[in-house]
Amino acid sequence: MSTNYEPVIGLEVHAQLLTASKIFCGCSTRFGEPPNYNTCPVCMGFPGVLPVLNKRVVEFAIRLGLATHCEIARYSRFARKNYFYPDLPKGYQISQYELPLCEHGFLDIDVGEGKKRIRLTRIHMEEDAGKNIHDVRGDYSLVDLNRTGVPLLEIVSEPDIRSSAEAGSYLRSLRAILQYLEVSDGNMEEGSFRCDANVSVRPLGAQEFGTKVEIKNLNSFKAVEKAIDSEIERQIETLSDGGKLVQETRLWDADREVTRSMRSKEFAHDYRYFPDPDLLPLAVDEKWIDEIRAALPELPAAREDRFVSEYGLPRYDAQVLTVRRDIAEYFETAVTIHRNPKAISNWVMGDIFRVIKERKLDDSLHIAEWPVSAEHLAAMIKMIDEGKISGKIAKTLFSEMLASGAAPEAIVREKGLEQVSDTASIEAAIDHVLAANAKAVADYRGGNEKSFGFFVGQVMKATRGKASPQVVNELLKKKLSV
Ligand code: ADP
Ligand code: ZN
Ligand code: MG
Repeated sequence: MSTNYEPVIGLEVHAQLLTASKIFCGCSTRFGEPPNYNTCPVCMGFPGVLPVLNKRVVEFAIRLGLATHCEIARYSRFARKNYFYPDLPKGYQISQYELPLCEHGFLDIDVGEGKKRIRLTRIHMEEDAGKNIHDVRGDYSLVDLNRTGVPLLEIVSEPDIRSSAEAGSYLRSLRAILQYLEVSDGNMEEGSFRCDANVSVRPLGAQEFGTKVEIKNLNSFKAVEKAIDSEIERQIETLSDGGKLVQETRLWDADREVTRSMRSKEFAHDYRYFPDPDLLPLAVDEKWIDEIRAALPELPAAREDRFVSEYGLPRYDAQVLTVRRDIAEYFETAVTIHRNPKAISNWVMGDIFRVIKERKLDDSLHIAEWPVSAEHLAAMIKMIDEGKISGKIAKTLFSEMLASGAAPEAIVREKGLEQVSDTASIEAAIDHVLAANAKAVADYRGGNEKSFGFFVGQVMKATRGKASPQVVNELLKKKLSV
């Protein structure tokens, strides 16, 4: 790929909010109900009904706005975005347009060793549309309006992103903040965190932006990163061949790993935005904003800094552990019980992350629900630190805990995994090993000291890994030198 071009990327994210009810009616937002169960005349768009704004949606939007350093508009407005589609019964979506609630924020994302600031253009509130269901019967489609009116925040970035890796980092940071704020669950596979990517390229050093393409149908972090890379390559190839790019919307085809054209600019929608006359302009007062600000939880960046200063963790560990609120809390709970932060971090980032990956739990898992509780992990590490079990046995123990969810003390007792430090039984094992390997003993005494490791291995095997390695080493040295 030619390096004479620089990619320019801006992301538009839709986050579904964790409110109990919809944005303009009292219907439940619960997921997985039978089709059209969570509906009423308002969200089905019957004539003559009036929307009533859910205050909690505004609170959530302000929460995110404050957490991302936005200016919160004291006066904002809802607008109608007009288009026709069967999943949109009113014929328009209520959104915000020329006066959004939040503007001019930023997010500092991790890039390699440092941070990079990505500016946010705006965050506004809007309602979700319903869902068309195809191919369940006959040659017609059905419409499910359960999702119609579910509250969303649209978060629009400035075109400050320069690579697919930065885009991934931006999305992870944004999702972490949403999760910390308990504003959205950020689940990409289930569609509560959706992203459209705007991509263009320009000759290195150019001031002007190139023609941009908007990519849709991205439903995982991997898809976003791959689609951006593939689109950058396509654009550079087109330009290098002397071709021209057209402004258009393209769809990501995850199977073939290419983007393909959906509609070009000439066919772009004209949404005929205008202020919604059914809703009053939104005025939020200072006092309420202050209350929301005062109640903000500790955010990922602050927690990362605190993990370094309070627990002496390396920056890398602190960064990895704070990307998810549930994992950060799991770590801290364990540290409160047994204060060995680095050991706990190693177990979380090593064995626990490995299992999460293996079981493909990255997106859906809440760590509080998984079999090895923070209390049990802390208890296990405490047993290692106190010399009750060896590090090797701990690996076996961890698998047992994972399988059964039982407390480590109980498993150790039941399976007889305690580390053996009493010299008598270890001596017996050593005597046995030395007697069985007379030739090796003679070699060792004749100067072949490299075989020491062999004896250690044999003794550990004879004690089924339970002997304290320290005691084994000491006793062996003594016995072999006689
Ligand atoms: P539109 O009018 O098509 O909605 P906007 O200017 O509102 O476009 O921008 C939508 C998104 O596209 C924003 O995230 C913005 O940062 C991004 N964007 C705008 N211009 C470009 C460009 N030339 N290249 C890449 N992204 C862009
Ligand atoms: Zn309703
Ligand atoms: Mg726009």
